[in-house]
Amino acid sequence: MTPKEVLAQIRQREVTTVDLRFMDFPGVWQHFSIPADSLTEETFEEGIGFDGSSVVGWRAINEADLLVVPQPETVLIDPFTAQPTLTMVCNIQDPITQQDYTRDPRNIARKAVSHMRSTGLAETCRLAPELEFFVFDDVRFDQRGHEAYYHVDSVEGIWNRGRAEGPNLGYKPGSGLGYFPCPPTDTLADLRTEMAQRMAECGIATSAHYHEVATGGQCEIDLNPKSLVESADQVMLAKYIIRNVARRNGKTATFMPKPLYGDNGSGMHTHFSLWKGETPLLAGNGYAGLSELGMYAIGGLLKHAAALSAFANPTTNSYKRLVEGFEAPTKLAYSRRNRAAVIRIPIHSPSPKSRRIEYRGPDSAANPYLLFSAMLMAALDGIQGKMRPGDPLDKDIYDLQPEELANVPTVPRSLEESLNALRADHDFLLRGDVFTSDVIDTWIWYKQTHEIEALRVRPHPYEFNLYYDV
Ligand code: GLN
Ligand code: MG
Ligand code: MG
Ligand code: MG
Repeated sequence: MTPKEVLAQIRQREVTTVDLRFMDFPGVWQHFSIPADSLTEETFEEGIGFDGSSVVGWRAINEADLLVVPQPETVLIDPFTAQPTLTMVCNIQDPITQQDYTRDPRNIARKAVSHMRSTGLAETCRLAPELEFFVFDDVRFDQRGHEAYYHVDSVEGIWNRGRAEGPNLGYKPGSGLGYFPCPPTDTLADLRTEMAQRMAECGIATSAHYHEVATGGQCEIDLNPKSLVESADQVMLAKYIIRNVARRNGKTATFMPKPLYGDNGSGMHTHFSLWKGETPLLAGNGYAGLSELGMYAIGGLLKHAAALSAFANPTTNSYKRLVEGFEAPTKLAYSRRNRAAVIRIPIHSPSPKSRRIEYRGPDSAANPYLLFSAMLMAALDGIQGKMRPGDPLDKDIYDLQPEELANVPTVPRSLEESLNALRADHDFLLRGDVFTSDVIDTWIWYKQTHEIEALRVRPHPYEFNLYYDV
C-alpha cells in the first residue's frame, strides 16, 4: 500500500485515529495515537517526533528526540478499538542525521536482510514461529506468583492451578495430558478460534491451533512462514490479538516462558528456511533431505547457540523452561526426531519446498526482530565458514549412556551464562553493521542490571518455603 492509498483508506473507513506502533529494545510493542486528519503524505517521509528517553533501553535524556516513520505496508484497521483506528508499524530514525536508529530492533532486522542479500548466499529468509502461551483466569499477580512457586502435590491441585478456586467439575486433563483431548476437556477451543479468526482478518495466516501439553490452559497457535521482517511484525500483532481477545473474555494470556513449576513451559519454536527466488536452498539429498548449505546453516546455529540464547531465551525465567523432562530442548545438537535437541529437521512432507530447520530453543519472551536477525546471522556465518555440525543426535537421550552424552554440550543454564556467551561470541552479529557493538553492550547491560541484578537482591517466594523456619 502507498501513502496515498493509506490516506484514501482513512477517508473511506471514516477513521478518526491513527495509532503508531514500534518495538522497544527489550521487546514490548509501544504506541501513541494522532488525529487521523494530521497524517499527510509528508509524514511518511519526515516522520513524527517523540521523546525517546523514556523508552526502555533507548536514548539518554540529553539526546532524547527520535522520529517514528510509519510504514504503509503494515496498515491495519485495529479490531479492538472503540473508535475507527488505523494502525501502522513504524521505523525509528534519528532526527538530526535522518538515519535509522541503531537500537531499533526493526531496523536491525531490515539490516540483517540486506546483509544476507549482499552476501549473495540467499535472497529470502522465511520464518514460521509456533506461539505457545498460557491463558489464565484474571487472577491477581501475587496470587498467580504464589500458585506458580509452590509445588502442588495433589493431582487435584495440579488441575486447579491457574484457575479460580472452586470445585473440580470434571473434564480436566490429567497432569501433562493437555495435548489434546476434545472439548469439553479443552475449555479454550472457542477462545483460540476467536484469536485465529481475528488474526486471519488482520492478514496473519495460521496453520493450526490447539491445546498444549501443560494442564493449566496452555495453548499453541502456529503462524505460516513469512519473510523475516514481516514474520517479526506478525509475531507482535499476533501477541496483541491474543492478549486482547483473552482480555475481552475475562482472561489473561501470558508468554512468560515458565509460569508453572512442574509443568511444560512455553516455547517459540521457529522454522527457518533460505531461498533464491522459488528455490529452497536448504533442500537436498543429505541427512533428512537437507542440502550441504542446510548442514552448514545448522553448523552455524549450533556453533553460536549459546550466544543466540541471549536473544532466544532473554529472561531469567527462560532457563526454568530449558530443563529436562518437559519437551524443551536441553542439548545443543540436531536431529530429525529427537525433541531434546535444540535443532530438529521436520520431515512431515517429502516436498523440497517444505524443507526447513526447526530451532526449538527460543521462547515466547524473545524479541522476534532481534531473535530472527541473530538466527539468520548465525546461519550465514555457518554457510560462509562451511561449518559442519557433526553427527545428529537421533537416539532418545534417555536411552543414551552418560558417556555417550558427555560430549554433547547443553543449552546455557542461566541468563548470565547466555550473556557471557554473547560477550565472548558476537563478531558474527556485527557483520554488515547489523548489530552494532553498542546494541550488544546495551543488551547485556540492560539484562544484567534490570533483570539479573533486580532479581538477585529480592527475596524469592520459594525462599519462604525453604527458610522461614530455619
Ligand atoms: N512446550 C514445549 C517447549 O517448551 C514444546 C512442546 C511441543 O511443542 N512439543 O518447547
Ligand atoms: Mg508445535
Ligand atoms: Mg508446541
Ligand atoms: Mg515445534
